[in-house]
Amino acid sequence: MVQRRRVRIQGIVQGVGFRPFIYQLAHRHRLYGYVANTPQGVELEIEGDESDLDRFLVDLPVNIPPLAQITRLETEALPPFAYTGFEIRTSAAGAERAALISPDTAICADCLRELFDPRDRRYRYPFINCTNCGPRYTIIRDIPYDRVNTAMATFTMCDRCEREYHDPLNRRFHAQPNACWECGPRVWLTDAAGKEIPLADPIAAAAARLREGAVLAVKGLGGFHLAVDATQNEAVRRLRLRKRREEKPLALMSPELEQIASYVLLGDRERDLLTQPQRAIVLARKRPESPIAPEVAPRNQYLGVMLPYTPLHYLLLAHGFLALVMTSGNLSEEPIAIDNDEALRRLAGIADYFLFHDRDILLRSDDSVVRVTGGRVRQIRRSRGFVPVPVFLRRPVPPILALGGELKGTICVTKEDRAFVSQHLGDLENLETLEFLELTVRHLRRILEVHPRLLVHDLHPDYLTTQVALAQQELPTLAVQHHHAHVVSAMAEHKLEGRVLGLALDGTGYGTDGRIWGGEILAVDEKGFERLGHLSYMPMPGGTAAIKEPWRMAVSYLRATFGEAYFAENTPLLRRWGRERIDLLLQMLRRQLNSPLTSSCGRLFDGVAALVGVRDRIAYEGQAAIELEQCMEPTQERYRYEFNDADGVLLLSPTAIFAQVAEDVAADARAGVVSGKFHRTVVEMFAEACRHLATRHGLTRVVCSGGVFQNVYILTNIERRLHELGLEVYTHELVPSNDGCISLGQALVGAASLER
Ligand code: ZN
Ligand code: ZN
Ligand code: FE
Repeated sequence: MVQRRRVRIQGIVQGVGFRPFIYQLAHRHRLYGYVANTPQGVELEIEGDESDLDRFLVDLPVNIPPLAQITRLETEALPPFAYTGFEIRTSAAGAERAALISPDTAICADCLRELFDPRDRRYRYPFINCTNCGPRYTIIRDIPYDRVNTAMATFTMCDRCEREYHDPLNRRFHAQPNACWECGPRVWLTDAAGKEIPLADPIAAAAARLREGAVLAVKGLGGFHLAVDATQNEAVRRLRLRKRREEKPLALMSPELEQIASYVLLGDRERDLLTQPQRAIVLARKRPESPIAPEVAPRNQYLGVMLPYTPLHYLLLAHGFLALVMTSGNLSEEPIAIDNDEALRRLAGIADYFLFHDRDILLRSDDSVVRVTGGRVRQIRRSRGFVPVPVFLRRPVPPILALGGELKGTICVTKEDRAFVSQHLGDLENLETLEFLELTVRHLRRILEVHPRLLVHDLHPDYLTTQVALAQQELPTLAVQHHHAHVVSAMAEHKLEGRVLGLALDGTGYGTDGRIWGGEILAVDEKGFERLGHLSYMPMPGGTAAIKEPWRMAVSYLRATFGEAYFAENTPLLRRWGRERIDLLLQMLRRQLNSPLTSSCGRLFDGVAALVGVRDRIAYEGQAAIELEQCMEPTQERYRYEFNDADGVLLLSPTAIFAQVAEDVAADARAGVVSGKFHRTVVEMFAEACRHLATRHGLTRVVCSGGVFQNVYILTNIERRLHELGLEVYTHELVPSNDGCISLGQALVGAASLER
């Protein structure tokens, strides 16, 4: 019995080889009909034997092309039509406009095979790609996603590429970046001044320079990398010095999994993650002995590792490297360079050589960073490979533009039931990064065709993003409290509705009382929040200087705990910090000069890290807390904690804990032991406070967010402990728990305010 069905599919189904896939699948199942792009996605009709139709529909979702993602699939039975073949119909005008754009994707297995096949016409061609792989988001200028609207517009396909492009059965059917030696982009090597070095094989020559210890700037997919041979300590040190990046770990790239496994410990989950087409940087524990230079990640037990993702990377690494350092091509704090001239200018004095190419990067996108904890993938920096895949919401919302916070900035644009969180923009503290934000706003609005009705920003009056929002006149604005946004972003990921208990453990967020929050327990829904409990306020002597110098926080906690008498004695600890500097700090605290009050959990970690001697000053954000976590020794002991009610708000006492830490330090306890006890205490204290407040307010769900949840111990143990206490726990998986999630939460709060 011949039957006909119509199938409508939504998701990432355009520009990813979906129609050829359907065409071939229909052939395999002896079905007739058609497939076409529509504004919503892809529509197809199939006609044939009932059992063939059923098998087709079973096969379809499990065999989709690697870049495709189906979010909705509807089928409808229709009377037979008597098709006589299967065709790919040309799309109606406008059909591709609303489709989702695929993220940039690592070279696929087929292209990789061709890359190293001497008989293939693209043998060793650095820009080989197909519908299943290659650049997307970073080369698109406008929609629809057609070659003329990409950075490939300036390259005219040769006859052979053109034939592939128009052949529905070819892997390169409508592959917009399709190119070859004859017609596509090329690579060249220059010296530090940008003068081209004439060479038959610039990649081999670049590899030779790397082996001599040179710093090479390499143009990649979302920006330039700075590369050095990761086994040469001197070369790595030189790169650090020139880049002014003192201690922050540098990412590594190795040609194969097995090389990575020789210097870090990889579980099945990490192996799987490394080989995914997103090719994120994965954090993995160092092996005790390895040829990797110590300068790559000093005083850190983890390395950030990745596999190559462009053909150019594969060609470069094929020259016998165990690993290359591949760090963002920028000075610390600035956005990654993408333009050839810009790179020459900004990376002057850092790179000895430049490996350029002439396919423009239209939108910068840093490497993403992820890690596995408790068998689940956690985002640390969500960028290339993940963007612009949206977070799917539980309902359609009005169009909103949210500008995020300040550090680890992202923006978010909503469209119907999807929230598009941008690539990582960096720390929005300088004009370069701000320009990058504005460019990304324009870009996302254009390619998503969104006309926002509201502009959301952080409550902090001094953030540059706040100033941007208030300086424009196009859109009405809404300020959203930082930790409200944190918790709502995690709610959005899990499609939660109604009121939850929000546990926001964080570094810095401007509070509704003008103080700096960060150890918060809130009752939250999308419309608003109520502050139920928090760490008691402590002064931060010197304001932001206290973030960069954790010893200042230690002095503040010690003074609050023991009074100034504590500083009368001349202990080795006080000698380390310096008598004069301590006196100055005490004076500031006494007179309440430049000492904003904070309930930050991050600062408590900082204070403990300084007191136990792990770190008095930091070179990058979160360093003291990271090193405190890494030195931890397992222990069954913990400190006593105290909390008490003050006018219905639960106050958690940092000084009660600090007193015991100071006692341990005075008794010469090992830093690792103190760290272990402290971590346990934080977990127990917040879990117990959550249980207490959940019962009191009739809440059953706890939603965790904030930078402190980047701490693996805190994340896994708070989650476990809250479960044991009978609560439902939700943590971040799609977006980072740090401030990379703020824009998503802001957008949802903004949407709720418009819906009211
Ligand atoms: Zn491919
Ligand atoms: Zn060609
Ligand atoms: Fe935060």
